[in-house]
Amino acid sequence: MNQNLYALLAAHFPRDPAAPCMILPDGRVWSYGDVERASARMANLIVALGLQPGDRVAAQVEKTPEALVLYLAAIRAGMVFLPLNPAYQRHELEHFLGDATPGLFVCRPQSRALADELAAAAGVSNVLELDDAGRGTLINAATPHADAFATVPRTGADLAAILYTSGTTGRSKGAMLSHRNLAHNAQTLHDYWHFQPGDVLLHMLPTFHVHGLFVACHTTLLNGSAMFFEPKFDAARAMQLLPQSTVMMGVPTFYVRLLHEPSFGREACRNMRLFVSGSAPLLKETFDEFKARTGHTILERYGMTEGGMFTSNPYEGERRGGTVGFPLPGTALRIVGAGGTAVKTGEVGSIQVKGENVFVGYWGMPEKTREEFTADGFFMTGDMGSWDADFYVTISGRSKDLVITGGLNVYPKEIEELIDAMPGVVESAVIGLPHPDFGEAVSAVVVRQKNPAGKALTESGIIAAIKDRLANFKVPKWVYLVDELPRNAMGKVQKNILRQEYSAQKPR
Ligand code: AMP
Repeated sequence: MNQNLYALLAAHFPRDPAAPCMILPDGRVWSYGDVERASARMANLIVALGLQPGDRVAAQVEKTPEALVLYLAAIRAGMVFLPLNPAYQRHELEHFLGDATPGLFVCRPQSRALADELAAAAGVSNVLELDDAGRGTLINAATPHADAFATVPRTGADLAAILYTSGTTGRSKGAMLSHRNLAHNAQTLHDYWHFQPGDVLLHMLPTFHVHGLFVACHTTLLNGSAMFFEPKFDAARAMQLLPQSTVMMGVPTFYVRLLHEPSFGREACRNMRLFVSGSAPLLKETFDEFKARTGHTILERYGMTEGGMFTSNPYEGERRGGTVGFPLPGTALRIVGAGGTAVKTGEVGSIQVKGENVFVGYWGMPEKTREEFTADGFFMTGDMGSWDADFYVTISGRSKDLVITGGLNVYPKEIEELIDAMPGVVESAVIGLPHPDFGEAVSAVVVRQKNPAGKALTESGIIAAIKDRLANFKVPKWVYLVDELPRNAMGKVQKNILRQEYSAQKPR
């Protein structure tokens, strides 16, 4: 049987080719038939350009239906898709093109000169353009091609995509995902989250990342249902579309922003059956406030580029705020302490996973890949976490974020939770900063509310308020008050930027 992911998705497309797949902001609709035909034309073009199965197709473009079709066309033709964040600059792009050596690079017209220069240096022979409205030489070149294309046979182990990890530390690595990896996770999530006929997904995530491209699109395509395909998140726009939607997937920031809308509440969510959150931790306060305002319990799940989703709160049964739920069917998850032994309930350790969804390895880095897997085949995620008594998993942060002060481990989340609960605090990020005696000093960057409680906060006041509740070595030595925390496109707090910024400053 052909294990090409496209073949699996297409087998679930609706019988009626006129059924809607993507609904655009201007009301135009891409039907499933449109998607099949456009991806066939593009797949024919890719083959005509001389690419062979296994060759890479890189795209640094905005989110448009045509961009999604390019992804589908690439896998359909047996190529390996490489989506790139449009925000990437010259030196990053240079690395990706040089490292992955794609046979085709699709860029935005405004970056054409740079694309040509870097493509020439990396030996990439084809460069085509796709603009932010879905037009360009890619589409012009594909138009004359046939509307039909026989999906290229692939085994489950063949590569479908390479996603460069967000690389908040060190050099970004290309995570290789096979057709089997993607198919397995798509089917698991489709079932676990009870996708059903008539679902309409509100899609406001970017499509260069695992969350927007795989989790959101694959579940929808496998379901043969429609999605509102919006270029980006906008709270007011989301309020307009939610009444016609049944499922929304978002990063925590989306939910925080929706709650900032005074009129957001039950009325806007009357048709909704599921809100999913992930890619960054959802604050317990956001989870609670969302429930109070809308009656909906956000379902938080956890995963990463290197394997899609690993855990999820249950669809039926209690969704527990502050946790990421249970390991998904087919994913073995264990949490181990320093000696490699399983942790006890409530004890923090390193999260390791194994399963059909877990990636193949890092592109061109066999050594690095070996280092990241245990002898018995578990991937070391780099995340720290714990089990509660009912086996819900809680994430405590990245192991790289662990602060080691005077030889003692401090998990930032424990301190962040205390600070976040103080009146006047919006949120906080705890980091380690170089310290002559302790190696690292626990330091807190705190966002204040713009109300009197927030204005009344002081650095020493914050320290005094939590001092009695924490062992002395965990109490922040330095506190910085700020208006906001730096975040990347997926809503993750960029602690590396904070470390850089405050290491250079004189401690207060
Ligand atoms: P990425 O590969 O960009 O998707 O980033 C994956 C990382 O995001 C994980 O390794 C976690 O550190 C973090 N992450 C994803 N989902 C969650 C979540 N629900 N709660 C906390 N951290 C999360």
